[in-house]
Amino acid sequence: MRGTLTFVGTADSKGVPRFWCACPICTEARTGGLNRRTRSAALIRGNGETLLLDCGPDLHAQLARLPGPLVPDAVLISHAHNDHLLGLGDLLDYAVYASGDMGMNGAPAGSLVPIPISTPAEVLPQLQDRFAYAFRRSAPVQPLPEEGLEVAGLRVRAFRVPHGANGHSHAFHLGQPGWRAAYVTDAIDIPGEVVGEWLTDLDLLILGTSFADESASPRAGRSVYDVREALELPWARAARRVYLTHLSHGVDVRGLTLPEGWAFAWDGLEITL
Ligand SMILES: [Zn+2]
Ligand SMILES: [Zn+2]
Repeated sequence: MRGTLTFVGTADSKGVPRFWCACPICTEARTGGLNRRTRSAALIRGNGETLLLDCGPDLHAQLARLPGPLVPDAVLISHAHNDHLLGLGDLLDYAVYASGDMGMNGAPAGSLVPIPISTPAEVLPQLQDRFAYAFRRSAPVQPLPEEGLEVAGLRVRAFRVPHGANGHSHAFHLGQPGWRAAYVTDAIDIPGEVVGEWLTDLDLLILGTSFADESASPRAGRSVYDVREALELPWARAARRVYLTHLSHGVDVRGLTLPEGWAFAWDGLEITL
């Protein structure tokens, strides 16, 4: 087995329930239903190592929900949006306190265990701006090398994807000889050359689809595929397994049927790779 992937969060930027919203999906989410979701992140385990993809504002609650303590062997941040990044402060603190309390990773209690955190080089200045205090004395986040990282039994690389009205984001390609997967939470209108290089012949695709159908919204204001569009993407249809994530209160995971091989992700869902 190549390992597992746990969806620790599957929501869009606002989370579900939206705290001000009384719609039926937010109401179901409030009672602990299947639509209750935290901001998108994923935890991959393989080869005795763990890799965290993104660290949004719900990170502390997401890690606290895990059955045991965790210091990730690597963390990758896709882009500098709040919903993918704002747990970074917790993560930096968490590394320090975890080592002090527990002597994690074989380190003597009280010593610092730096968590290797990286992001595409062009994202780094935005992180330095947002977390200036953490970068004052050290460089806690490194630029992700072009060739990616070898972690959790996978070669993990980032690639640039259009994020519509929000400019662009990055997605992650997870590879092993004879096996390919992609984690694409925040993208729309991905051009053919990017599809050709990164998104063909996928064994597993994890794709962000914030709403079920946004065809009534002006295209210029859009930033993530909707479910209707995802179902029509030839490269997504060609993937052997597809999980939809980054879901807003506009998607009721109980009420929409998806084709064979497709499923909605939900918080806590663990899949094998
Ligand atoms: Zn997002
Ligand atoms: Zn985003």
